[in-house]
Amino acid sequence: QAKSDGKDRYVVYTPDSLENMMEEYRLEADLRGALENKEFVLHYQPQIKNETGEVIGVEALIRWNHPKFGLLSPAKFISLAEKNGLITQIGEWVLEEACIQNKKWQEAGGKPIKVSVNMSTQQFLTHNTVSLVEQVLHRTGLDPQYLVLEITEYMAMEHDNSFHVLEELRELGIGISIDDFGTGYSSLNYLKDFRIDYIKIDKSFVHEVLHDENDAIIVNAIISLAHNLGMQVIAEGVETAEQLAFLIRQDCDMTQGYFFSKPLTAEGIEKSYVRLKD
Ligand code: C2E
Ligand code: MG
Ligand code: MG
Ligand code: MG
Repeated sequence: QAKSDGKDRYVVYTPDSLENMMEEYRLEADLRGALENKEFVLHYQPQIKNETGEVIGVEALIRWNHPKFGLLSPAKFISLAEKNGLITQIGEWVLEEACIQNKKWQEAGGKPIKVSVNMSTQQFLTHNTVSLVEQVLHRTGLDPQYLVLEITEYMAMEHDNSFHVLEELRELGIGISIDDFGTGYSSLNYLKDFRIDYIKIDKSFVHEVLHDENDAIIVNAIISLAHNLGMQVIAEGVETAEQLAFLIRQDCDMTQGYFFSKPLTAEGIEKSYVRLKD
């Protein structure tokens, strides 16, 4: 029976939330060994230039091939890794793996494409991103023009040093992209100070763009803002031909989404998009 004197209060877990907690606990413990056990894998999602329909890049997206739970999406473990600090090592692995893979495609005779890599906030704000990128480019031999770092608005604004970090990254010759544009902690200030190459319109604006007039207005405004500032626009989460047609009418430069392709393994990219010489 329920007691109300406060001594025997306890938290009630539904079987579901208990299971979630156990899973999270287990995942956090397992995460420590995952790098060493080579359980991470990168999938790559094509980015298409709207004008020509050609693939000009891919975004590297991490998955964890967990021995018990199978292939896990980043939503399951990236925030855990941010909390326990492992994100730094994981992020280094992602950067190096993406550069190695892109270099391999080029060496096999594929048409050169760019690879975009997501930076975690923690990594960007606390570690020496510039020297890491420099070292990885040197080790892998990838030409810097074929690497793009995806950062968020928060990273561009929040770091005392963001300005210098972004300047130095630009000096290395890599591209910088603002991910999930318009969803976070927005300020337009950094757009005038930094030389950003690409703005990625978040899929939450793209999803209802044909049915929600406000989304359409926002998409249109982001595209003109970006173009007037000399940046290119990539629309994320494009799932239908109608969405694509709308975006092309708005003069959007590039498209990424299930309409063209889900994220694929490196072999999948090779077969469908890189067109290697034989
Ligand atoms: P993001 O960087 O915004 O990546 C785009 C996400 O949208 C990917 O989810 C992709 O699979 C998904 N997506 C692409 N096209 C469509 C579409 O047409 N419809 C829908 N509904 N979704 C689409 P994913 O791979 O689950 O990644 C989720 C997030 O996890 C990424 O969002 C990124 O913030 C983070 N993430 C992924 N890989 C890494 C990584 O290597 N390092 C870090 N720090 N974060 C990563
Ligand atoms: Mg991204
Ligand atoms: Mg993101
Ligand atoms: Mg995004």
